Amino acid sequence: MSEEKGRQIMLHARVVLTGKVVAVTGLHIGTSKESLEIGGVDMPVVRNPVDRTPYIPGSSLKGKMRSLWEKVTGAKQNKQIGKLDQEAKQVWMHLCDDPACPVCTIYGTTGDVMKDAPTRLTVRDIPLDKSSLPETVVDFTEVKWEAAIDRVTSAASPRQMERVPAGAVFAPLEIVFSIYSAADVQRFAHVLTGLQLVEDDFLGGQGSRGSGKVRFEDLTLMVRGGKDYQDYDFKAFNNRKAEERNLATLVSLKGDIETWLRQSLNL
Ligand SMILES: [Zn+2]
Repeated sequence: MSEEKGRQIMLHARVVLTGKVVAVTGLHIGTSKESLEIGGVDMPVVRNPVDRTPYIPGSSLKGKMRSLWEKVTGAKQNKQIGKLDQEAKQVWMHLCDDPACPVCTIYGTTGDVMKDAPTRLTVRDIPLDKSSLPETVVDFTEVKWEAAIDRVTSAASPRQMERVPAGAVFAPLEIVFSIYSAADVQRFAHVLTGLQLVEDDFLGGQGSRGSGKVRFEDLTLMVRGGKDYQDYDFKAFNNRKAEERNLATLVSLKGDIETWLRQSLNL
């Protein structure tokens, strides 16, 4: 170990996974503060402040992938995040300074732990494809009545929850994975596993009551970089047939994807 301060990080390439997210059941991704607006629904969905269209924040999808991957790898959830999740439970996450940690290498750490480690995964916000919903859907959402139980009085009080209805399509999904080392080529498969875990679980709130089942479709994989990030053109993974662009196929082709990445990047 050199005593000199500083770091050297070599970015070899970026893998870009694009596609779309289909809401198989109604999707409720709430705002962080579900404040009660007079005359509004009790639990609104998060919307783009400019045009008021619902969207899937990249942080929601990435956070869910991370949380499920922490459970699969058995990583200790040792840090309490100072907020409540959509089911009003405390949120815990895993953070450590192990440079080979299967969670932190992919999903990142916060500033106070392992300050200089690069985060491999970026998940961009995913806008709603407005044309995926019929015009009869007012403001792109439906309102579902839920019975909320008052914890003090045990009285059931109905409340309104807003959801983007089943069938809505969010696109483009764009996930960017950075390759810093040959080991990252193998790690990319864990990103596909993360998406698989979300498909088998749910996104957003009220999942145990049926909301938030999603499916990832129309997936394409590209990579740009190579040694010294010298290639400007993206190289595409060959899954051009429509029936090959689903997550199950990509997962089944993990070995081929790894070979393709190694050959494309000369790593
Ligand atoms: Zn870790």
